[in-house]
Amino acid sequence: MTSITPMPTNTSQLDFQALAHQVMQRCEELSRLSQSPDYLDRRYLSEEHTAANQLVSNWMQQAGMQTWQDAAGNIWGRYQSTNPQAKTLLMGSHLDTVPNGGKYDGMLGVIAPISLIGALHEAGITLPFHLDVVGFGDEEGTRFGSTLLGSRALTGQWPAEWATLPDKDDITLAQAMANFGLDFQKIPNATLQPETLLGYLEVHIEQGPVLEQADLPVGVVSAIAGAKRFQIHLSGMAGHAGTVPMSLRQDSLCAASEMILAIERLAKQHDVVATVGRVENSPNGVNVIAGTTQFSLDIRSADDQTRDTALADILQDLHHIAEARNITLTMEQTHSASAVQCEPALQKLLTESIEKSGYQPLTLLSGAGHDAMAIADICPIAMLFVRCDKGISHHPAEAIQQDDVATALAVLEQTLLTYQES
Ligand SMILES: [Zn+2]
Repeated sequence: MTSITPMPTNTSQLDFQALAHQVMQRCEELSRLSQSPDYLDRRYLSEEHTAANQLVSNWMQQAGMQTWQDAAGNIWGRYQSTNPQAKTLLMGSHLDTVPNGGKYDGMLGVIAPISLIGALHEAGITLPFHLDVVGFGDEEGTRFGSTLLGSRALTGQWPAEWATLPDKDDITLAQAMANFGLDFQKIPNATLQPETLLGYLEVHIEQGPVLEQADLPVGVVSAIAGAKRFQIHLSGMAGHAGTVPMSLRQDSLCAASEMILAIERLAKQHDVVATVGRVENSPNGVNVIAGTTQFSLDIRSADDQTRDTALADILQDLHHIAEARNITLTMEQTHSASAVQCEPALQKLLTESIEKSGYQPLTLLSGAGHDAMAIADICPIAMLFVRCDKGISHHPAEAIQQDDVATALAVLEQTLLTYQES
C-alpha cells in the first residue's frame, strides 16, 4: 500500500521531544504511587489517590495553572485566559488504575496537557479560552464496582444510593469519601454548568492495535462504541458419554459451540464486534454429556442501530440452533450503554492538526469506554488516540514511544492554537 504523507507545516517553536521526555518521566513517577508493592494499583479515594493528586497539582502549579480539588476528589488545574469572561475548554483523563495496570492508561491524558501548558506558559502564549485540565479520581470502577465515578460527578449523575456502595473491605463510598476528607452530601458541588463549557478533549492510549497496524503515531476517534452484554443459559440433558446415541443427545456444550461460531460469523457480516469471553459448563466431566452451559455475549458498535440489527440477527440464529438441538435457551441482559459520537468540528480540527504535523490522519472507533463518554452529557467531546505497543493495555507491559508522545503534543498545540469558539 502506498500513501502520500503530507509535508509537515507545523511551525511551532516548542521542543516537543523535550516535552515528551518530561511526559514519559512523569508517567514513570506517577506509576510509583501504588497501593501494592508488587504492581501498579491505584484506586479511588486511597492514600495513593491523595498522593497522586498532590503530585499532579504540583506539576500544574509549575505550569502556571491555578489548582483545586473538587467534591468528588478530582484534581483540577486552570490555565487562565486573558479574558476573564471566556468559556472553558476541558482536557483530562483518569488517574486511577486497574490492579496490575499500566503507566499510561489515563495518566497520559492528564500529564500531556500539563506539560504542553507549561511550555505555552513559558513561551508567553495565552489562549482566548480558559483551559482546564482534570485528573479524574475514578474511571475504572475497580474499587466500588461502578465506573466513571469522577467524570459522572461533573455531570450531576450520582444517585443517592451510591452512598452505600461497598468496596471489598465493606467500606462504603460515603465512608471512603469521609476518610479522604470529602462529603458524599456535597457531591452536587462538583457539577459543571454546560453553558460555561466549550468542549472536552481527551488524549488516551489506543488500547488496541489499529494505529500500530497502520504505522501511525496518533489517530482521531470518531465515536465511542455502545455496548450491550448478555448472559445466555442453555439447558439440555446430561447423560453417559458411552450409552446415549448421538442422535438422541441434547448436548448444551455442542449447542453453545455452534452458537459461538454463529456469533463470530454474524458479527463479521454486520461489521460489529461481538465477543463470547466466558463459558461455564456443567457437569464438565470427561465422560458426561454437557447438561447446562452458560456463556457471556458482549456486542459493540459505533452505531446503536447497526449493533441492534446485528444483535437481532444473532439472537434469531441462537434460537434456531437451540430449537434444532432441542435445547432450552434463556437469557438476561446485564449491561447496556449507547454509543457516543465525537463532535465533527473537533474531529476536523484534530485531523487538520495531524496533517500539519506531517502524518496521515486516521479516524478510528474507540471500542473501550472512556471518561469522555460521561462528559458527552454536558458538552461536545473529542478524543486523540496515541499508538500503544502491540495494543496491550490494562497490563504492566503497556508501553508507548516518546516520539509518538511528541507528535501528540505537536497535534495538541496546533489544535489549541487554532481552536475557535463556535
Ligand atoms: Zn483509560
